[in-house]
Amino acid sequence: MIHLPNYLSGSWQPESGHGTSLHDPISGVPIATAGGPAAGLDAGFSFARAQGAAGLQAMSYGQRAGMLGEIVKVLQANRDAYYDISLANSGTTKADSAVDIEGASFTLGYYAKIGAGLGDARTLLDGAAAMLSKDQLFQSQHILTPVRGVALFINAFNFPAWGLWEKAAPALLSGVPVIIKPATVTAWLTHRMVADVIAAGILPAGALSIVCGSSAGLLDALQPFDVVSFTGSADTAALIRSHPAIARHSVRANIEADSLNSSILGVDAALGTAAFDLYVDELVREMTTKSGQRCTAIRRALVPQQFFGAVAEAVGARLAQVSVGNPRNAEVRMGSLVSREQFDNVQAGIARLASEADILYDGSQQALIDADRSIAACAAPTLLGVRDADQAALVHDHEVFGPVSTLLGYRDTAHAAALAQRGLGSLVASVFSADHAWLAQVGRALAGAHGRVHLVSPDVGKIQTGHGNVMPASIHGGPGRAGGGEELGGLRALGFYHRRAALQGSSATLQHLAPAAVHWSA
Ligand code: NAP
Repeated sequence: MIHLPNYLSGSWQPESGHGTSLHDPISGVPIATAGGPAAGLDAGFSFARAQGAAGLQAMSYGQRAGMLGEIVKVLQANRDAYYDISLANSGTTKADSAVDIEGASFTLGYYAKIGAGLGDARTLLDGAAAMLSKDQLFQSQHILTPVRGVALFINAFNFPAWGLWEKAAPALLSGVPVIIKPATVTAWLTHRMVADVIAAGILPAGALSIVCGSSAGLLDALQPFDVVSFTGSADTAALIRSHPAIARHSVRANIEADSLNSSILGVDAALGTAAFDLYVDELVREMTTKSGQRCTAIRRALVPQQFFGAVAEAVGARLAQVSVGNPRNAEVRMGSLVSREQFDNVQAGIARLASEADILYDGSQQALIDADRSIAACAAPTLLGVRDADQAALVHDHEVFGPVSTLLGYRDTAHAAALAQRGLGSLVASVFSADHAWLAQVGRALAGAHGRVHLVSPDVGKIQTGHGNVMPASIHGGPGRAGGGEELGGLRALGFYHRRAALQGSSATLQHLAPAAVHWSA
């Protein structure tokens, strides 16, 4: 069985303490082990702050962007191994593994490209100089410089590949060393990617480190100037926010947590319209991609009350065609959840929602393909529904992290927007209609409570990027319950890894910044 050692202080560490086993979620067989509490954390963090930062910051933005391009080549050269690991450890079909693996390369490639545009710059200028004296001689110029510490990433189990690189791409481009702590249950893929990139010798020593297994002591190792970016449950997020090291040292924290995303069908989009078909396609795709284990998946499907029955019927008919089971069988369209523990959580979540919602489609009656129901973590798609949405409360509060969604009937536009906002802050909402003016109106109404609003009209039906797909050009994160974080969004992502300072001086002094600086605009 493979062991996943930690990589700290520029070397692979001996096995630490009593570890945890990772399992194949279809067979339940142990496939790898990760360590217990990590030894050498303080030394590893110090090494990254000193060596990693110095090595990265000796380069220009353009050179670091080139480095990201080299990482993409390494990931592409090893992609077959990544698909094998994903199949064995996450139980995903090839198409679902691609969302994670190809999404990682795509995001890195995107930052390699836009980072190249920063060229030889070593400093980012933030806005134009402000005049502080009447004669305009004494001025203030805001500049951005890389944060002086490390970027600690604590990630969720559902995106072991993309989850690492969507955070690491802007951090490394900024010149900030990265320490990644993947969720233990699927840590193998993250570990293998890190090992491949380290072996390729692309990055300076200390620029990339990994801690697998126990998180004990990780947050205690944080110091002033470090930043932490967390993706996972709201409960762990609360622990992180209130950790003494983070509070005491004003460690900047980005949190991506639970989200009860919604999707709204327009009142113009009756059965038989193109918008109706697009909505049904999207809802089924969102419920079944990665077995619904995407933080952006549609949990609440808001439809005009008069279309409730038609949508339920159309979605149910499509879900009945989704074959579930062992992704090694080519007939399987949807693989498993990540673990038996998640399977139990999803069953309990469905039972909880069913206390106030009807079950409109129950896929658990179908046979699993090549998988033992008593062992495999395969959850069937389940559509719940409440025709009068005012009769439901739990659905706005309880995220079931699996192939589960609840159909809710709304009365009018104001009611739909109010229901969407009962999620108390979400990563994404989507809206489907052929009425462009209405889409824009609803988009504006939802923007304050969402990180992203995805507006789909039939003219963009074939080219739209998908409700749940996170594109690096758009921000990812949401207010309130979703954690209040913000990632990606083009060069905006670099803001988290930089400090802004005002340099006040003579215009003759400030002009010396210019040769190695570029105006930063997101
Ligand atoms: P989780 O249990 O909160 O774990 C997330 C990460 O935190 C794991 O790496 C975990 O390590 C680590 N961790 C746990 N306790 C910790 C502590 N005391 N100190 C430091 N780190 C600690 O979440 P999960 O079950 O992996 O993920 C599922 C949840 O993530 C879902 O609710 C989903 O909504 C959310 N999610 C959100 C987004 C987003 O972008 N907003 C994306 C994906 C998932 P171990 O694995 O070793 O326990």
